[in-house]
Amino acid sequence: MRTDADCIFCKIIAGDIPSAKVYEDDDVYAFLDISQVTKGHTLVIPKEHTKNIYETDEAIAAALFARVPKIANALNQAFQPAGINIVNNNEEFAGQTVFHLHLHLIPRYDKTDGYQAQWITHENQHDLAAIASEISTNL
Ligand code: AMP
Ligand code: ZN
Repeated sequence: MRTDADCIFCKIIAGDIPSAKVYEDDDVYAFLDISQVTKGHTLVIPKEHTKNIYETDEAIAAALFARVPKIANALNQAFQPAGINIVNNNEEFAGQTVFHLHLHLIPRYDKTDGYQAQWITHENQHDLAAIASEISTNL
């Protein structure tokens, strides 16, 4: 399994850096984010080191997301949040600070719970068919 000796999350998986473990199996590790944007804020990571979504093969992505419903339901049972946001930041501009792929599971409690993501939509300004075509030709 690929690991990176300089990666903080690889060190957490190896047990060289302590973490508050929530879940572990052969492929996936989940632990509390040290920053706890909200109570129960959990990171779910593949054990195989992969920098971010661009470098992740389908098998790793499939295994990673396959564990999310179980962990989300456990958070839901534990704290009865009003909802949960699942966030994945890729590259520095998008907020990625640790370059080992991870999903944030952020339980939501109320409007002032610490999590904010503002989406400003620009309706009718884009040719949706052209944009979709530009993407799909690169698949
Ligand atoms: P991101 O900004 O999406 O790359 O998220 C990285 C997250 O890792 C941040 O929310 C940090 O709080 C969290 N983090 C960094 N170091 C640790 C650590 N040693 N234990 C738990 N979480 C960490
Ligand atoms: Zn790593």
